[in-house]
Amino acid sequence: MSATTYILAGWLLDGSGGPIREKVLLKIVDGRFAAIEQYTPESVPAACAFTDLSNCTLLPPLVDSHVHLFMSGTIDHKTREWQLAAGYEELRPLIKQHLHYLFSHGVLAVRDGGDRGGFALCYRSERDMPAEMVLKVAGRAWHQKGRYGGLIGRHPAEGESLAAAYAKENDPIDQVKLVNSGLNSLEVFGRETPPQFSAREIAELVAAAQQRGKKVMVHANGREPVRLAVQGGCHSIEHGFFMGRENLQLLAEKGTFWVPTLFTMKAYAANVTFAKAGADRLVIEKNLNHQLEQLAIARELGVKVALGTDAGSLGVLHGESMVDEMKLYKKAGYSLAETVRCATSNGAELLGLEDFGRIAPGQTATFLVARCAPAQLPRKLSYLEAIYLNGKQSDRYRKNPVKHLPTDA
Ligand SMILES: [Zn+2]
Repeated sequence: MSATTYILAGWLLDGSGGPIREKVLLKIVDGRFAAIEQYTPESVPAACAFTDLSNCTLLPPLVDSHVHLFMSGTIDHKTREWQLAAGYEELRPLIKQHLHYLFSHGVLAVRDGGDRGGFALCYRSERDMPAEMVLKVAGRAWHQKGRYGGLIGRHPAEGESLAAAYAKENDPIDQVKLVNSGLNSLEVFGRETPPQFSAREIAELVAAAQQRGKKVMVHANGREPVRLAVQGGCHSIEHGFFMGRENLQLLAEKGTFWVPTLFTMKAYAANVTFAKAGADRLVIEKNLNHQLEQLAIARELGVKVALGTDAGSLGVLHGESMVDEMKLYKKAGYSLAETVRCATSNGAELLGLEDFGRIAPGQTATFLVARCAPAQLPRKLSYLEAIYLNGKQSDRYRKNPVKHLPTDA
């Protein structure tokens, strides 16, 4: 016999970016959404299981499209150095903890942007990897010898091409991570770094990755590094500070994703004394404002944006930073529904997850419950009321069981 339940949502953000719906009845059959319609008291058959969440907003589970699970986001230098030097056995409990933080904030799918030992990759096959979460990993990133990227990866051997180096790799990763620029300057506004690879080298890597069914994500800041990566056929630009309008146009035309990681810059500004020596708060704030302007242009041009936090970066905490990043999208002019779309269905598309990130008939009934009206989002995501997995409230999250209030509450 099939199990049917009904849930009344006060407000629904379905992940599509469309208008927020009010007083919606969700019919769940065998763990999937069977119907979603306007609520009337008559629409619930008598004797059917009914949960009243009329004072809550429902939304799909979140996707953080850019994290580094081996780093905690601490601002303490000694701890950061320890994390950057530690081995897998030492980092294992840390990775487990970070996944727990993410889950607690409703982030049920994450894409790890790489580490120097393939640590997130190792953790994915551990017995205590949470079964209710999706973890996509890049393993060890590729960078050019002598350039930025050693903290999260390795480089091709002397005289070896990027594609040839990749062809020798056997790590069971989900996507390939390439580093094609340096880091953003915290001392000089808008200082660009040269690309690490040519468009041809990137195109060869993309083709080799495609043969194995994998996408290529590229760390790139500045006009030239971004242009070469997009022309090389990469699937997403990570960070993309100072890429400029022409590149944003190119992203829109080619349907390439952008993961702007804005909060990293805000966190640098807030923790400037812990950042690099010589870092200037005013420069950092200008960097952030420029990125906000780029995001506004991306919205206008229809660039596919997936929300990623770069959690693990200085002052960027796993889970909590989703809220920080979403607030910045709103500051750039995105509506709440558009922001949620970037943090749910767009992320799911980038990660290649078909049955994830939307609340729609036919989809698995996995969703978040925030006890508030939409105006209190994204803040309330830090204090979720409940997480439902396959139509049932998660025990793992059950710190505040949902109270069954009268329908007219
Ligand atoms: Zn990163």
